[in-house]
Amino acid sequence: MTRWLYRDPLGVRLVLASLLVGSVLSIFSTSVQLIASFNRQKSDVTEVLDQIDMTLADTLELALWTFDFDQVNIVLDGLASNEAVTHIELFSQTGHSWERGEIIPDPVQRIYDLTYALDGPEEEYLGRLQVDLSLDKIVDRVWAQFWVTLLTNLAKAYLAAFALLVIVHRMITRHLRNIAGYVAGSDVEKGLKTLHLDRTKREREDNLDHIVHAIQQYDARVDSSVSDLKTEIQERIKSEKQAREALSIRTSFIGTMSHEVRTPLNAILGFLHLIEIDSSVPERQRHYARVATKASHQLLNQLTNVLEMSRLDSNAVSISTRPTDIRRLAQQWQETTIAAVHFHQKDIEGTLDIDPDLDEKYMLDGARVTQIVTNLTDNAAKFTQKGGIRSGLRTVPLTHEGRDTHGVEISVADSGPGIDDAQRNRIFQRFTQINDGLERSYGGTGLGLAICLEMSELMGAELSVRSAEKDGFTTEFLITLGCNVRRDKENE
Ligand code: ADP
Repeated sequence: MTRWLYRDPLGVRLVLASLLVGSVLSIFSTSVQLIASFNRQKSDVTEVLDQIDMTLADTLELALWTFDFDQVNIVLDGLASNEAVTHIELFSQTGHSWERGEIIPDPVQRIYDLTYALDGPEEEYLGRLQVDLSLDKIVDRVWAQFWVTLLTNLAKAYLAAFALLVIVHRMITRHLRNIAGYVAGSDVEKGLKTLHLDRTKREREDNLDHIVHAIQQYDARVDSSVSDLKTEIQERIKSEKQAREALSIRTSFIGTMSHEVRTPLNAILGFLHLIEIDSSVPERQRHYARVATKASHQLLNQLTNVLEMSRLDSNAVSISTRPTDIRRLAQQWQETTIAAVHFHQKDIEGTLDIDPDLDEKYMLDGARVTQIVTNLTDNAAKFTQKGGIRSGLRTVPLTHEGRDTHGVEISVADSGPGIDDAQRNRIFQRFTQINDGLERSYGGTGLGLAICLEMSELMGAELSVRSAEKDGFTTEFLITLGCNVRRDKENE
């Protein structure tokens, strides 16, 4: 029962409301009845007194005049039987007296002088009748009546409320609960596909029927949207699969092709080098060989980029971290920078700036970081005509998940043409080259920075570019190796 009540809070609230209203109405109507009854009883008492005045006094006077004391007693007993009369006293002129009831404090008192008229106008004084009245008994009786009526009315109201609760539960709330369960999906999970309420069919539909129809229409709409979505998802999965297959074919094709082209190219480079260093070959032919070597290097570089991109696309690039002496690595980068400057035949200076606060070793993938830095320094050497390239290595404070930590920032700045604001984000997109004139003279595929960015993301690092415009430097690339760069000693 309590469970049922607990599961039907709306019904319970309705019943409580009806109980409240019923109780207030009961109290009100019973009070009205009480007041009416009290007034009626009060007027009954007044009637008794008037009756004494009009009839009983005459009978008493006659009885006293004729000394019919039996009649006197009958009249007094009749009078005393009225519940409002508490005490009666009768004194006759002849010295007789009668008394009924008990004296109570502060009664309502009426005194009648009894006389008898002989034939003439003279009246003979016979005695005095004193009647004491009290409404207490009437009030008590009316109160008793009030409580009985009130309790009866309340019981009726409570019974009606309980009946209402049952009716409301059977007719409305249990259906609402079923509807809610169906809409919430619990019935669907149980395998019931349509909404069905357990109620007899009537000719005229009511609000519950309207709700059921609305839900059924809504269901139909949802079903059709779901089936459309399913078809769309299947089509997308199919086309995604096809795209993946195509990508994988393309990737393996590019990979194979790059490999196939790189092998003979390396052989060509080897033979060109032999020609370059062979003193028996005339200088003009050796010059041709040097030009051919440079072009072959560019071609090799481009092929390497294409191969790397295809490896990234097919998730074939993995990051493996190990304790790395980043200072030593920076020295290698410096040598590569100088080699690149030499390769591009530039008269520019390469400097390296290392923060003394750096730890001995950090957990990172040295080969991948080197690959990114080499790409940046090669670009710097390629695009800078005069001035220099400055590489830097320093610690940076970072906040990770609310706690202070630190990372490593690698910077490559140059005094080249610079990159304007509009182009800053574009240069990380694949196949994007912004200084067309320059690129044409240096070659390039527009893939280098895209590879660097994807590689950085794989390592959880950030790659960005900013205008340096300080100390003659115009462009500065920054690699921030974040909180996943752990000091080696933390790992030990
Ligand atoms: P590319 O193989 O053509 O060098 P990248 O992705 O490495 O391709 O570079 C994209 C473009 O970004 C370059 O073509 C060049 O226009 C610009 N860029 C890259 N590095 C620099 C730099 N240090 N100074 C000026 N422009 C640069």
